[in-house]
Amino acid sequence: MLRFAKVSFNIFVSSSIADRRSKFFPSASSLSSFASETPSFITALIAMTVQSSKPQDEQYKVAKSSYFNLPALDVSVAFPQATSASVFPPCSSDYFQFDDLLTPEEQALRMKVRECMEKEIAPIMTKYWEKAEFPFHVVPKLGALGISGGTIEGYGCPGLSITASAITFAEIARVDASCSTFILVHSSLAMLTISIGGSEAQKHKYLPSLAQLKTIACWGLTEPDYGSDASSLKTTATKVTGGWILEGQKRWIGNSTFADVLVIFARNTSTNQINAFIVKKDAPGLQATKIENKIGLRIVQNGDIVLKEVFVPDEDKLPGIKSFQDTNKVLAASRLMVAWQPIGISMGVYDMCHSFALKAVICQPLVSFRQNEYFSARVCRLEVKGFRNGVYLSFSEGTAKLKESCLFLSKEMQHLYLKERKQFGAPLAAFQITQQKLVQMLGNIQAMILIGWRLCKLYDKGAMTTGRVSLGKAWISLKARETVSLGRELLGGNGILADFLVAKAFCDLEPIYTFEGTYDINTLVTGREITGIASFKPAARSRL
Ligand SMILES: Cc1cc2nc3c(=O)[nH]c(=O)nc-3n(C[C@H](O)[C@H](O)[C@H](O)COP(=O)(O)OP(=O)(O)OC[C@H]3O[C@@H](n4cnc5c(N)ncnc54)[C@H](O)[C@@H]3O)c2cc1C
Repeated sequence: MLRFAKVSFNIFVSSSIADRRSKFFPSASSLSSFASETPSFITALIAMTVQSSKPQDEQYKVAKSSYFNLPALDVSVAFPQATSASVFPPCSSDYFQFDDLLTPEEQALRMKVRECMEKEIAPIMTKYWEKAEFPFHVVPKLGALGISGGTIEGYGCPGLSITASAITFAEIARVDASCSTFILVHSSLAMLTISIGGSEAQKHKYLPSLAQLKTIACWGLTEPDYGSDASSLKTTATKVTGGWILEGQKRWIGNSTFADVLVIFARNTSTNQINAFIVKKDAPGLQATKIENKIGLRIVQNGDIVLKEVFVPDEDKLPGIKSFQDTNKVLAASRLMVAWQPIGISMGVYDMCHSFALKAVICQPLVSFRQNEYFSARVCRLEVKGFRNGVYLSFSEGTAKLKESCLFLSKEMQHLYLKERKQFGAPLAAFQITQQKLVQMLGNIQAMILIGWRLCKLYDKGAMTTGRVSLGKAWISLKARETVSLGRELLGGNGILADFLVAKAFCDLEPIYTFEGTYDINTLVTGREITGIASFKPAARSRL
């Protein structure tokens, strides 16, 4: 009967949708009467059916209109009212002038990273995110920023302040969270583990090329059966002559499909403690395969790693990682960096939504400048000074700055979303509810930045406990979730398009809410610190 159903489809296919609907599903009686009346024809049709084993999709397409399968309109044509995030909007979230809290070096680094991200990553990120592919060609440009290795001193590493390192992650995440995760895993997890737990020889051997991003690292702790409960991991390391045999499985490991150096955590079968090993790519028995179908951080190549009797020579066991306590030292520092990712993501989303507000004071003089070849230096000096968080200072500083500022302003003009988009005869920005959402987002960002910054200062003076950094990461990612949701709402339908950033940012935040300790686990870490009672395991069964 199934075969007859297929046959009837071939016979009755019609260009009329109404016809087709009824003829896709003919009744059993009509099929059997048809079969009994025309046996030889049926034989021929069965042959046709076997031959036309084209996927059903193809068969549907035959009946579709001529514009079926045309490429999508470019978003700039489909919705010219707004500029996509490929031309990234200027940063406008530093309402409380956090920039004043940074040293000149930190400010300069921030602008260098921002410029690179806006120029190199923003134009390509949507395409790579959509394809879930990694843009290898930008790695040298990220390497040239001199940020990989973060706070590590020596061995070719930049030796940044913790604050400088933190703001680089925010700046990268502001444009693209996948990119910041790529560097975070490489630098704040893998390189930091080698720096904290490695011998001098290992540091000299691995860190210099990792610092330049000439080689890439990943960091494998999580296993299919042990996520939040990572300290119970089951991958084993067994001592053999001249080295160790690693056996087990890892999951979710960022960069693992192309990493040159894999830092792998395994349980020492002699001591039952967690140790760390450097496994090199292509080691016999090692396999890393990409996890497909992620809805967030799609550019990051997360992998499943299988280790089947992988031999690691003694020289590649990290001597300083003797137990999970040592792993925790790495996690505490990296968690602080992770906390800055949601800050950056929220800043980017706010910039995308907010840029309209600047138009009112700046773009008008610029328009007159453009139209009449006349420029009101007085007005622009005043307004540009409003962005002193950036390199765009004042026009009085000379022609070079004037040019720079004009470029900035012309870019600004392209981002007018809420001001230009009119509904019910008024710009979206004129509605009180819209303004309330923007202010809520802005308030969140100020508080997030100040908590992140304070954690950096606590780190500097040795007072950043695991409870404090866990509270910071948990609270910041919670507020960021609220912020990106508001941003997504503000852009309406375009809020679900990756082209306008907020949809991508919205999705990218989800894994960050979960990795480096989920919101719940970080809350429990802080809870344990402030009460002295650990609540990770369920309470003993009640007698009731
Ligand atoms: C995109 C991405 C990248 C990652 N990159 C890496 C990487 O590079 N290297 C690496 O080693 N790992 C990586 N991870 C793994 C990440 O650290 C884990 O996903 C995370 O620790 C959570 O583990 P899980 O996914 O197994 O969730 P589970 O531990 O199964 O948790 C599921 C839910 O249960 C809750 N839960 C668990 N235990 C408790 C409890 N005691 N009390 C209350 N609630 C609880 C959690 O909060 C969560 O809501 C990555 C994950 C993602 C999604």
